[in-house]
Parts: sequence; structure tokens; C-alpha cells
Amino acid sequence: MTNLISLPTVGFVSLGCPKAGSDAELILTRLRAEGYEISSAYDEADLVIVNTCGFIDAAIEESLDAIGEALNENGKVIVTGCLGAKGDIVQTTHPAVLAVTGPHALEEVMGHVHRHLPKPHDPYADLVPPQGIRLTPAHFAYLKISEGCNHDCAFCIIPSLRGPLVSRPVGDVLAEAENLARAGVKEILVISQDTSAYGVDVKYRTQFWGGRPVKTRLKELCEALASFGIWVRLHYVYPYPSVDEVIPLMAEGKILPYLDVPFQHASPKILKAMRRPASAENTLERINKWREICPELVIRSTFITGFPGETDADFDQLIEFLETARLDRVGAFAYSPVAGAAANDLPGQLPETVREDRRRWLMQVQEDISAAKLAAKIDRVIEVLVDEVDDEGVIARSKADAPEIDGLVYLDGFFAAAPGDFLQARVVDADHHDLYAEPVAQD
Ligand code: SF4
Repeated sequence: MTNLISLPTVGFVSLGCPKAGSDAELILTRLRAEGYEISSAYDEADLVIVNTCGFIDAAIEESLDAIGEALNENGKVIVTGCLGAKGDIVQTTHPAVLAVTGPHALEEVMGHVHRHLPKPHDPYADLVPPQGIRLTPAHFAYLKISEGCNHDCAFCIIPSLRGPLVSRPVGDVLAEAENLARAGVKEILVISQDTSAYGVDVKYRTQFWGGRPVKTRLKELCEALASFGIWVRLHYVYPYPSVDEVIPLMAEGKILPYLDVPFQHASPKILKAMRRPASAENTLERINKWREICPELVIRSTFITGFPGETDADFDQLIEFLETARLDRVGAFAYSPVAGAAANDLPGQLPETVREDRRRWLMQVQEDISAAKLAAKIDRVIEVLVDEVDDEGVIARSKADAPEIDGLVYLDGFFAAAPGDFLQARVVDADHHDLYAEPVAQD
């Protein structure tokens, strides 16, 4: 292996969800801070780190393939991420890897890197931009506020992979957000396994940020993030009463009127079997209350169809819930067993065709709801954030659209903008998923 440049160089491959991406950003940031060069080409690197996903079989296969490819093309490979926490599958499949760690293991990964590729003698801290190294485009960034989860949902193995909830100190989170805002990031997406639980593990400890006390709690975190004057979007929030406290901040325009709440089902019996957090809450009542406080509120959610024991009546209850709640964005997954999850042993496992038919039916119901909600926006003037400009014009997102999972706003034939610009746009058309708009002249 020939290093074509003078600095020790690390190749990096990252697979998996935004949470894995956030781990990758921390590792990349530290590597650059210590003076390592990063390369996307295996043959220019002295060593390769593969950040894996181990959630479902397809992801495991993809991760194992990526490790094999890195071994073939480079030979020196360190594996990190969720797959590393799943027994010895990595070592058994690829005994030549140098080391394997689980997720959220920055120090461990760096220890292995130092062992196999000593760091440069005199690293220059200013090689690192203040916002760290990001995998996302320059205008939006994920901000991870905690790691792990205290729940034990029957279909999920994340707590066994990532451990119990550990909240990041609020001062660190805010310092990171401040650096992002200073570096020109226009939208921060707050992520964790359970955003509403932020600070529970440290009893909402008070810390100091910018000389003033801030509690490690979602409401206080949101208030502080609002001071940067950029979009702040909340993901993975559960419908606990405490969430009521952040809705007024949305109504006041301090953070985006957007909540990503993974309800997963509406039948109390199935929610109980799923062991979902806040399953005893009256969700419809809660949603109505939120909408009373903030009529603009957009709710995104995900659901699982065909969970073990789901009867026709349970599924009908879910459909009724969707028809009544009229959520803005919905994703649905046919239940699929995950190795090691408690749900695998539940009675009443349903055939794949039933699980899939129900998923299709649910999405059809939701499609009409989404289309009607988007059509209601025609003629309205909305603020959009530009994601890219291609041959046909500007592609942007509204406050109602999180990157990669929600819809887009197309301003066809309009080119006078750049990624990260905010624009006012009049909606002229809509389909099931996206909006079409034209720019509104600014004074
Ligand atoms: S809340 Fe449930 S689904 Fe989410 S990470 Fe925790 S155990 Fe998994």
C-alpha cells in the first residue's frame, strides 16, 4: 500500500441511519483534529474504517460486503457501528479485520487507529473547521443530543446494541450547534433514539452555556437553539405530556412547527404488545391539544402493519386513527422480525402477505390524506430552504419537510438561488408528495 500524500490517510465508509452518520462525523472530526488525512479512495488510504449498520438482514449483508471490499482493496480495516455489537459475526466472516467496536465508540476507534496508524507528530488543530466534518450538505446538519434508549420496544434491538439513555451535556450540544450556525448551517435536525427523554438520565442537570444556566431538558434546549435564528427541527419525539411544553415555542416561530412522532400503531392492545413508550396516552387528544396551540403544526409518523397478534379489528382501529388524526406525513413498514427482538416469540405471527397487504392499504389511505393536505396549500406563500439547483430549477423544502424523508418544493424555471438560501414562494400546484411553487418577489 502506497500513501500518495505525506499525511497518514484514513479511508472512511459510513452505512446506516442518521445516528450512525452522527457517530461517523465525530470520528471524522477527531481524525482531522489529530492531523489525519481523509480519503474516499481505498488505494490512497493507509487504513480504512467501516461504520456499519446491523439493524436488518439487508443492512448486515451490505455492511459485511463493504468490509470485504475494503479488505480486498486496502487490507487494513477497522470496523465500528451497530454490527460490531452483534456478537462475533464480523470476525467470523472477515477474520482479517484489525479491530471491531460497537456504535458510539469514538475513543475505542481512535485507540485502534493510533495502534495501527500512528498519528502525525504535530497535528494542526486548525485543519478542522469549527463545525467539525459533516456528511450532510453544508446548509443542514444533524445534532445528536443523546445516545441509547431506556425503553424496550418488542420489535427493536437498539437498546441492546447502544445501551441505556446517555444524554450529551447540554453545554456541549449548544456549543456544537453554535459552531454549526456560525459555519453557515441553516437547519439543525435534532436526533436521538428518544428526544423527549433528553436529560432524564442526568435528572435534568443544570449546566452553563455562554455564562448562563441551562437545564439538560428538551424545552430549555429548544429555547437556546432558537437563539441562533435558524431552522430547528425535532425528530423521534414521543407523545409525553412534557412535549406540550415545546409546542408554544413552535407557535411563536422559535423552532419549526414540526414533530416526528413514531406512533407505530393506534390499537392499545398492539401498542401494549409492542411495549411502546407513552402507549397509555390518549394520542388523539394530545394531537388536538397540540394543534389548538399551534395550528401550523406538521406531524410526521411511522407505523408498523401486521405486528404479531394484530387482528382485522386492530388494523381497522389504526386506519380509523389515521382518518381522524389526518397526519401530514406517514411512513409504514410491514412488520419484519429482527434477530434478537422479543417480538419474534409473540403468538399470532401473521403471514407476510397479510403484513404487506395491510401496509399497502394504509399507505393508500394516507396518500389521499396527504394529497388533500398538500392541495390546501395551493395559493399560499410559504418560506422554503433551497437544497439544490439543477437543470430544471430550484429544489427546496418547506418547514413541513425534513430532508430525505418528506416532500420537496419545486420551483421549475427559477435558477437565481443557491443551496442554503431562504425564499418566499407561492404554491401553484401539489401532488401526493410534493409541492410546485414560484418565487415571490422580495422587497
Ligand atoms: S424507543 Fe423503542 S424503537 Fe425507539 S430505540 Fe427505544 S426501544 Fe427502539
